[in-house]
Order: sequence, then C-alpha cells, then structure tokens
Amino acid sequence: MASHIVGYPRMGPKRELKFALESFWDGKSSADDLKKVSADLRSSIWKQMADAGIKYIPSNTFSYYDQVLDTTAMLGAVPSRYNWTGGEIGFDTYFSMARGNASVPAMEMTKWFDTNYHFIVPELGPDVNFSYASHKAVDEYKEAKALGVNTVPVLVGPVSYLLLSKPAKGVEKSFPLLSLLDKILPIYKEVISELKAAGASWIQFDEPTLVLDLEAHQLEAFTKAYAELESTLSGLDVLVESYFADVPAGAFKTLTALKGVTAFGFDLVRGTQTLDLIKGSFPSGKYLFAGVVDGRNIWANDLAASLNLLQSLEDLVGKDKLVVSTSCSLLHTAVDLINEPKLDDEIKSWLAFAAQKVVEVNALAKALSGAKDEAFFSANAAAQASRKSSPRVTNETVQKASAALQGSDHRRATNVSARLDAQQKKLNLPVLPTTTIGSFPQTVELRRVRREYKAKKISEEEYVKAIKEEIKKVVDLQEELDIDVLVHGEPERNDMVEYFGEQLSGFAFTANGWVQSYGSRCVKPPIIYGDVSRPNPMTVFWSSTAQSMTKRPMKGMLTGPVTILNWSFVRNDQPRFETCYQIALAIKDEVEDLEKAGINVIQIDEAALREGLPLRKAEHAFYLNWAVHSFRITNVGVQDTTQIHTHMCYSNFNDIIHSIIDMDADVITIENSRSDEKLLSVFREGVKYGAGIGPGVYDIHSPRIPSTEEIADRVNKMLAVLDTNILWVNPDCGLKTRKYTEVKPALQNMVSAAKAIRTQL
Ligand code: GLN
Ligand code: ZN
Repeated sequence: MASHIVGYPRMGPKRELKFALESFWDGKSSADDLKKVSADLRSSIWKQMADAGIKYIPSNTFSYYDQVLDTTAMLGAVPSRYNWTGGEIGFDTYFSMARGNASVPAMEMTKWFDTNYHFIVPELGPDVNFSYASHKAVDEYKEAKALGVNTVPVLVGPVSYLLLSKPAKGVEKSFPLLSLLDKILPIYKEVISELKAAGASWIQFDEPTLVLDLEAHQLEAFTKAYAELESTLSGLDVLVESYFADVPAGAFKTLTALKGVTAFGFDLVRGTQTLDLIKGSFPSGKYLFAGVVDGRNIWANDLAASLNLLQSLEDLVGKDKLVVSTSCSLLHTAVDLINEPKLDDEIKSWLAFAAQKVVEVNALAKALSGAKDEAFFSANAAAQASRKSSPRVTNETVQKASAALQGSDHRRATNVSARLDAQQKKLNLPVLPTTTIGSFPQTVELRRVRREYKAKKISEEEYVKAIKEEIKKVVDLQEELDIDVLVHGEPERNDMVEYFGEQLSGFAFTANGWVQSYGSRCVKPPIIYGDVSRPNPMTVFWSSTAQSMTKRPMKGMLTGPVTILNWSFVRNDQPRFETCYQIALAIKDEVEDLEKAGINVIQIDEAALREGLPLRKAEHAFYLNWAVHSFRITNVGVQDTTQIHTHMCYSNFNDIIHSIIDMDADVITIENSRSDEKLLSVFREGVKYGAGIGPGVYDIHSPRIPSTEEIADRVNKMLAVLDTNILWVNPDCGLKTRKYTEVKPALQNMVSAAKAIRTQL
C-alpha cells in the first residue's frame, strides 16, 4: 500500500526561508546564500518524507514566492512592463513580478481558493510570447534524484493555470483565456519530456479549479488539454489532483475520463460528496489517491476512522490501486509540532502539523498493507478519546447557550432609522461625521513595551502607564485634528484576533505555528480547541480609560465572531457555525459590558466576513446566514442609543450587499481604496441602504498623503449616490502600519475636506 503527500510547507520549521528571502531583498545576503538555505530546506523535507516511508514524494512544491508565479516563469509569461529580454528567468525578473521594483509595480495577488494563501495572478492576452523560461521543475527533480529520492514532480495544471489568470492590461476583459491552451501546452510538453528524460516515472498536475462551479466549455478544456498531452505523457503515471472541496458530478465525469491520466487525487476531508461519486463510478484500473489526512487544519487524524474508510475504498478500487494521501498540500497547515515546547502535552496529543501528518499518512498505508503499528494507533485512539471527553473542550453552559440560538433570529427591536435618530440625540454629531477605523501607528517603542511586558521584564504598573500615555497621545491628536468620533488607537493589541483569543477560554497559541500567507509573509492562527467563553471583560478597562480622557464619543473596539473564526484554526468536532455562535456570545457579553461602562459607540470589526465565503455558490446562502446571524447576536442586547459600527476590508461587496445590510449595524466603514465606482454602483443601481456608511476616502496601504481636494472630490462622488445624513468620512482601514508623519497630514486633510463640504450643504 502506497503513501503520497500532495505538497509541503516551504518556509521551514522556523521560517528559515522567510528570513533568507528578506535578507536577500534587503541586500544583506547574496543570491547564493538564498539558494543554499532553500536547497537545505528542500533536502531536509525530502529526506524527512523518505525516512517516514512515503512512496510518492512531491518535488517542485518548493517556491521562492509562489507556485503560480513559478508556472508563469516556466511559461515565460512575463508582462512586458518588466522588460524581460528572454532566456532563463532569474531572481531579478522573478522578484520584480512578485514584489515590484523601483520603477514598476508588482503583479496582482489574490487569495488561493478559500485559503489564506495568496498567489500571483497571471496576466495574459493574445500577444504573450510563451517560451520555456524556467527549468525549475526539472532542476528540482534532478536535485532530489541526486540525493537519492525519486520524486513526483508537481506542476500547476494547464487548465487551472489559465482559469486562475486574468486578461493583461489593455486586453479586453472578455478575452477568452482558455484560447491560450494551444500556446502553453507545447511548453508543458517540453517540461514533461525533460522530466521523462531525467528519469521521472510519475507526474502530478494540480487542477484544483475542478472543485469550482465550472461551465461546460471550461470542463471541455480539461478534456482537450489532456488529450493533447497524452502522447507526451505516455510511459508516465499521471496524477491529476483536485482539492479544497468535493468535485461536482459533472467535473468528476470529465476528470475520470481524461486521456493519458492514470491516477486521481481527491480531498476526502472536505469532499464528502466526492466519496459517493467514487463509490458510484470510479474507473477501473486507475489509481485513487485518497486525501484523508487534512492539509487545512492542525488536528491529529482519527486514524481508526480513516482506516475504515480506506478499507472500504480498497474493496472498490483494488489493493494495488489505492494510495493514502493528504487532502491538499500541507502548505496550509503549521510545520512541526516539535517546535512547540509551550503547548501542554494534552493539547499536543490532539494535534498534528505537517511533519506529523506525513507520519500519519505513512502509518495508514502500512496498516492497510497489514503492518499496523499498534502502539501508534492506540496512542492515537487514546488522544481522540481524551479530546472527546476532556473538560477543557466541553463546557455544558456554553453548549446549551449556543444550541439555544439555532433556528432563532436575533435582531434589535427597533429599525435602523429610528435607532440612528435616538443615537443622534445622544451623540449630537455634525453631518459627515469623521472617524478612523481603530488602530493608530504602532511604533518600535510601543512594540517593545508590549514585548517586555509579555516577557515579564516590566511590571504591570509600568505597562499600564506606558499604554495609557500612548492612548492619551492618540486622543489628544484626534482632538487637535477635530475628529468627531474617537478611537483609543489599539496600542495594547498585537493582532486583532490574537488579542481576543488570548483572553477567551477554548483558545491555544503556538510559538511557531506559522502558515505562509504570501511571499515571505506568514500568519500564526490561534487554535480553537474548546467551547468558547469569556471569563473576564477584555477591553472595558482600556476603552473606559480612553473615554475618560475626552468628552467626545470614544468607540469601543472589538473583533467580530466571524473574523475570529475565519482567522483561526477551528475545531473539527462540531460545525463551524456552532463555534461561531459561541464566539458571538462571548463578544455579546463584552459589548454589553462596554455599554454599561458608558461607551456609546462600539465597533465590531468583521474584516474577514467575506473571505469565509464557500467556494461554491450553492453554499453561500447557508454561510452568510449563520455568519450574519452571529454578528447580530453580538449586539442584539444593546439600547437604541448605543451605536454599533462594523468595519470590513476589501471593496468587493457587490455580491453580498444584501447580507451586509442584513447585519443591521448602525454604521459600516468599508475599505474602498481602489475604486469608488464598484461600491457606489451598487447604490446607484438602487439598493436601498438606510444605515450609516463610510466608504474609505483614502488608501492607508500606501504612504502617499492624499490632498484635501482629492478627498473632497471622493466624498462629493459618494454624496451623489448616498444620502447626506448617512455618509461618514473615514480612511480605508486601520492606521497601524503607517507612520505618524503620514497619518497626521492625511487625517488633517480628511477633516478639512469634510468641513469644507459641510459648509456647502
Ligand atoms: N480595528 C482594526 C484596526 O484598525 C481593523 C483592522 C482591519 O480591518 N484589518 O487595525
Ligand atoms: Zn480593514
């Protein structure tokens, strides 16, 4: 019985690649240094998998930045603005595409399906001169072979590559990208031939777009592409991998009929419906790569359950045709539990990071072939049982409270316009009120204070004093700028999710549980392992301290339940919505405590609400329903006079605008930096919007300082579509990453713009 890993994290157990990349970019180390660190990482990963007993070990899953960009390089599809002159693509061109350079901006980056990984979007059109311009796949294959490991080279499949690309600037939006298949397949053929010549016996094409809602002509492209590659592929075993969801019936039919393909990989963790399709009509004589070990999460596999499933699949496809695999690349999980000395043994026994998942895959394969490691299986069974029964996981009170929420609706008693009236009586704000999104610049000094407090190098007293001083500075500055609704600046927070997770029960934190987000950037999601509750108020002290420094309204600042959920590793032993409801109840307690403490404006950020949207349209309504419900639960208990704000990142809201309205917040501030048009068109088309709304009037992601005229111009554009009495004036997002030298003049201009327009109304 064989074992296979779809792909492996590249960053290294201690983010070695990140540091090597950043030092190279800063000119502090050479290209050879970077290559050396990378080669060491690759060889240790291959060796680790080989030692574990994995039969099909992937290569070319390493990347200096992104695997889709690697494919762009392989195909020589460099946009003309990078002035690439041909030949093998080097670091210069590669990193310019990824990050931009002094004279040219980077290529666009977007989310890789519903993960938190971002890929570089290919820019294609009829004029691209494709050429075989990066031999990375072949080089990596040879490199592993020289180390004694015969790997399965992995390529982003040709159809997914095109489906994930966009028309280049100047190319018509309607340009049929799939028409480029004929131009890219010759290069795929060259790569395949070289891999064959180098000794490869297997090849893997990742075609994750198969799990999306595809149209008939898109499915036909798969048929066409693989038929075209068939003769070149002959002599090789060919695996087409799908992942992240179940494969719809139509796509399954297309996939399993592909010419020249001998093996199919499926995500059986998220793709439970694929299982039915496999049982119904898996082609005989082909390999089934069964992705039973979850690549998207950090939980130890339930080995007994997986073994059962695998045994039933074995009856179906035959002993020699079943391969145990991961549900997707392990890129999306943390690297190695061995680097977590601070997690306690009980919680650790419930977890498996990438390195542990490799061992699980192998243990399952061995068990299937009759060589079951009894000790390993019984330790796993004991851990599964302890997770089920641990009092740290289950909290009856929380379970009952969240169960009681299901099936019911939670809405504030009064409608939004009546509430806005009541709030206005209390707050007495000018028209076009100004505010900010929450955080103010986080200086080196501030980070040092937090770090030293955490490391117990300074006392609580000293810490509180330092943070209070910072808040005072931020409050004074906002008064000086004459902003209407103030914030405390969030100086006590390192991260908008971690800050709350650390104060809630049911959360654990890792020391090195990093997951690549893009390029050298990684995130360290908290782990939600148990029922969530809030032992103590979390923000009341800081918010009321801040409120005591000013007569103007001070916004309480919270992270919403959906965002906390979407930016964490979530437990897999209950539905996501249940965990979300629990977090909502904890935030509800906080909202009500803030209200009691005299905070009249409370912002509940839902920065990540949109990114939780399921991949397939049929599932959107269900998600939006419980996500929006969770948000409403947090503030259903406040008085009419308490104003609830929310904030969302990304300006792409048009498709979910009705859900946003259904959140029933009093005011929403929205990122809007790149285009007013997109957002405003919704309202122009007649969507009725009665709540307060603040589409960001300038982009905080750039150091550029917007002029008063420019901001006024944007506000006026908004006023053409939105009622004067609902429009707010604010930046796009939090100011955390900016410098005071940028923030001060920008906010000054923002306030002047609002004032100037007020006089004209
Ligand atoms: N309140 C948060 C801040 O200002 C919001 C951040 C976000 O939307 N990502 O930093
Ligand atoms: Zn934001």
